[in-house]
This record gives sequence, C-alpha cells and structure tokens, in this order.
Amino acid sequence: MSIYDQYETVIGLEIHVQLATKSKAFCSDDTTFGASPNTHVSAISLGHPGTLPRLNKKQIEYAVKLGLALGSEISLKSYFDRKNYFYTDLPKGYQITQDRLPICIGGELEVRLKDGNKKIRIHHIHMEEDAGKSIHDQDPKNTLVDLNRAGVPLLEIVSEPDLRSAEEVDAFMTGMRQLVRYLEVSDGNMQEGSMRCDVNVSVRKKGDTTLGQRCEIKNLNSMRYARKAIEFETSRQIDLIESGGKVAQETLNFNPSTGKTAPIRDKENAHDYRYFPEPDLPPVIISKAFISELEKAQPPHPLALFNQFQKKYKLSEYDANLLTEEKLTALFFIDLAQHSKNYKAISNLIINKINPYLSESNTGLNDFPISKKHLSEFIQLIDENKVSNSMAYQRLFPEMLKNGEKAPLDLAEKLNLIQSSDSDFLEQIVDEVLAKNPDKVATYKKGKKGLIGFFMGEVMRASKGKADPKKTNGLLAKKLNV
Ligand code: ADP
Ligand code: MG
Repeated sequence: MSIYDQYETVIGLEIHVQLATKSKAFCSDDTTFGASPNTHVSAISLGHPGTLPRLNKKQIEYAVKLGLALGSEISLKSYFDRKNYFYTDLPKGYQITQDRLPICIGGELEVRLKDGNKKIRIHHIHMEEDAGKSIHDQDPKNTLVDLNRAGVPLLEIVSEPDLRSAEEVDAFMTGMRQLVRYLEVSDGNMQEGSMRCDVNVSVRKKGDTTLGQRCEIKNLNSMRYARKAIEFETSRQIDLIESGGKVAQETLNFNPSTGKTAPIRDKENAHDYRYFPEPDLPPVIISKAFISELEKAQPPHPLALFNQFQKKYKLSEYDANLLTEEKLTALFFIDLAQHSKNYKAISNLIINKINPYLSESNTGLNDFPISKKHLSEFIQLIDENKVSNSMAYQRLFPEMLKNGEKAPLDLAEKLNLIQSSDSDFLEQIVDEVLAKNPDKVATYKKGKKGLIGFFMGEVMRASKGKADPKKTNGLLAKKLNV
C-alpha cells in the first residue's frame, strides 16, 4: 500500500454564484456581461461619498429560491455587514456581505457519483456583492481596472467539509450549476466567471475523526483547474506531513501553467477584515407569505426529474441524464410524453434529432420550428406503423424542419411514405395476380394496354371486392410499366 493510500482528502467549498439580476445588488447599473470596460458604473457602484445603497429585491428572491431548493432554513431576518480591505478593484474600500447572520442556513445537495448518491451538507448561503476586475495582461507597465462587475450580486454557498475527492467536487459543482440554471437564478457560466469556487483542502490518516489543517485555494474558475489543484495540493500536504512537517493554514493560488499551488502574499493572508454592521442598509426582513409564494413557483428538482425519467418513463440512465441536463429539455419531454406512451421514441427524437439541430443552428428549444403537436403526430405515425421508423427519421423529419406549419401526415402522404396495412394487403394481391399471369404481363408490356381491365378484374375477385379501384389501378400501372 502506497503512503498516499493511507490518507484521505477532505474538501469544503465556497462557491460564488453570480446572480442573473438585470441590475446590480445595491444600485440600478446594468449587469450584462461583456460590455466595454467601465460603462456599467455609477456614483453608487464607484462608492462616491454621500451615495447610499438600495437593496435589489430580486437578489433576495433568488437567494430564497436556492435556499428552498437545497432545503435550507430561510432566515426571516438577516443582516448586511462591511468587509473592509484595500484593493484597486474595490472602489468603496469595503465589500457589502453577510457575516453575522446569513439569509440561508443549512441544507444539502444530493449528488450522483459512480457508486451511488451522496448528500453534501451546506453550511450556509450568504448574499454579497462582487468586486471589479483587475486586468494584468493588457498593459506591460500598469494594471487596468474594469469596474463593470463591481456591485454585481453574488451568493456564496459554503459547504461542510463533506467532499472526499476531485470527482466529488466535480459532481457537486456540476449539480449546483444545474440547480441554479433550473431555478434561473444564474447562468452558471464558469468561463464568464458566473460561478467560481474557493477550495479548502486538508488531509488526514484514514480512520481519523478530527480534521487536518486546511489550505484554501482561491478563485478556481474551471473544473479542470479545480481537479488539478486538488490533486497537487493533496500530495503536497501528504509529502509535508510524511517528511515530519506541518501544514500551515494558508491561502493559495493555483497556477495553471505550472500545475502547482503557491501561497498568495503574506500580507493578504494575515488580513483583518474588520467586519462591522453595514450602517446604510436595514436588516433584511422576509415574510412567510413571500417564502410560500416562491415555494409554490419552484421548478422541479433536477435529481427528482432524473429519477422520474428512469422510473416512470423507463429510460436508461444515459438518456435520463441527457434529457434532464437542462430544464427546458426535460419539460419538453414531459409535454410530449403526455401525448405518446412511446417514451423511448420521444427520447430518441430529442437526443438524436432535436438536440443536434439546436446545436448546429445555435438556437434554443423555444425557437424550434416544429410544434409539440406536430412532433406528437410524428411519433404517432411511427407508433401506428403508418411510416417506417427509418423513413420517418431520414425523410419525413427533415421535411418537417423545412415545413414547420404542415402536418406530418400530409407531408408523409406527399412524400409517399405512408405504408398503411391496407396498401400492404393490396400490393400483395397485385403481386400474386401478376405472378400468376406471366403471359398476359408480357403481352401488356408489348403494347396491349387494354389488358389492364383483365388485371383489375382479377384483383377485385381475389380481394373479394375490398380493393380500392383507384389505388389498384395506380399500383398496377406502376408495376406493369417498369
Ligand atoms: P472560515 O470562517 O475561516 O472561512 P469556515 O469554517 O467558514 O472557515 O470554512 C470555510 C470552508 O472551509 C468551508 O467550506 C468548510 O467546509 C471548509 N473547511 C473547514 N475546515 C476544513 C478542513 N479541515 N478541511 C477541509 N475543509 C475545511
Ligand atoms: Mg469563510
């Protein structure tokens, strides 16, 4: 057994989620991502003297929604505090946050792991505002500052130290991202910095019940980096302990180009934030009525849907996962499933046809050109054997994409794809009549077209009069004139 196998990694996360509000936490500045630097600022977000913050109600609403989804206790009264520090991208010289009593306490997120589910406890969720952005790589001599982000509302979700590996961190972050997107409180976009996390890592001998000394790796904005940082940090701490050293509680940065963690400057490590109550904002008072309104409007939980897709609709884990990744897709499936019991066909249609179409055309389900009614009818055509599965997917579906307003049955008829059992029956009789009369077929082909009447009579007789004369005529003409 390697020395590393004798240790266990213990991880707790502090996740920052940028809320999808239109305006900032304490003023009306626009929050849209990607605007020219320093265009979404005002006297309030720049912290000019004499200005006062005003609370954004949506921020409260979003915090409560997330708290409810995680089963947290919602504080009916919570407070804002000032966290003081000096930095170029913090124009006020302090950040408004919640230190004494946060808006949500406790809760848990159940995550899916390879060998079963695990519940990760949440310590609390608090509201705060984001800082601006320092840009170090655009000017060789100076640091540039963009304050568009200063004052954008954040939720900080603090987990208990319940995670044990990079895989579990990945599953937790993925689950949290999916949840905030379901709730529509954030776009969860890690590349644009809408979701970032600080990772607290410690190690201990397996079987130990007390926690080891932890280090905090700041501001990881991709899962790949988080994974690498955790792996590096775990070995570093084990090596340190094994060589007789002690882990010091430090704040670290992860350097993607070296794959290593390193302490950030000592001064920052020794920060005293001098928290005190924010004097310009009253306590946040939430009524029970407000909470129950939000509770009523909560969307289904992604994990509940994932389970439902496997149990109720009998879909594979793979399908259930793909179909519930996004709320819109899952609800779309459920809608279609009310009209057809062929759940596998609906799943195939979404996964193999609709999703690829959406990603190729770079559009969303809301703009999909075929209505749910027509999609249901399409599946019904396959279910009732009116159109073969392969013809439906290869020929009918592309036609429907081009003619969204036309009913699939009409399109199938136009394309001659209908294979009603009637015409199978008729075709069989026609083939038999022709096979029994090779001489007359040859004579017909030489030019004696009047023989068509003979064939018609034979088919009528064999079908006991059930054959549709018009269809029979068409079929005979098609087969005789090849
Ligand atoms: P602080 O108040 O100093 O920020 P917290 O107790 O709030 O510390 O913990 C911050 C984060 O660190 C939480 O996510 C928590 O789960 C995690 N954490 C605390 N102790 C440990 C530890 N020994 N090992 C790993 N993670 C830890
Ligand atoms: Mg903390």
